[in-house]
Amino acid sequence: MARMGSGNIQAKLVLLGDMGTGKTSIVLRFVKGQYFDCQESTIGAAFFSQVLSLNEATVKFDIWDTAGQERYHSLAPMYYRGAAAAIVVYDISSMDSFIRAKKWVQELQRQGNPYLIMALVANKVDLESKRKVGSEEGLQYAQENGLFFMETSAKTAENINELFYEIAKRLAKAR
Ligand code: GDP
Ligand code: MG
Repeated sequence: MARMGSGNIQAKLVLLGDMGTGKTSIVLRFVKGQYFDCQESTIGAAFFSQVLSLNEATVKFDIWDTAGQERYHSLAPMYYRGAAAAIVVYDISSMDSFIRAKKWVQELQRQGNPYLIMALVANKVDLESKRKVGSEEGLQYAQENGLFFMETSAKTAENINELFYEIAKRLAKAR
């Protein structure tokens, strides 16, 4: 995280989580305000930039999305290096993706940065009728492991801006 003059913060943000959970869709919803129904999950590497203005600061996010390497259940060290914030995503309609999300959290914790701001994101809440992972399960795991928790839908845009604002606020506070 870098300070850029008065009240300006530049922060690297990384997304983790299994393939198909909606990482790229969350980023595209935030950065472009759009949702693409049949997105090719391996296409679209990997870097976006977006500025958020808070009252107290302006936060420029350098967002690193994967280009499908999560398929191999680990990411190169340079993916994490220097990250100030991380979003771990699972899909509420897939218990497997939640179990995998916990592995991604452990992988993050192994990076050994005590200042890293971590969000656990339960995506696809528009698929309520197919829900396999209860809200309480996600919330409880997040609380026990020092992440904050949010339920989102990249499809309907529910809580997407709120997610990035919350991270920005925490980054501004942490300075
Ligand atoms: P990634 O592999 O984690 O980057 O996931 P993608 O963003 O490529 O999304 C995988 C699939 O899930 C795509 O078909 C998306 O359109 C779909 N998807 C992503 N977010 C949502 C969501 O919030 N709700 C629903 N119903 N589908 C979603
Ligand atoms: Mg993707």
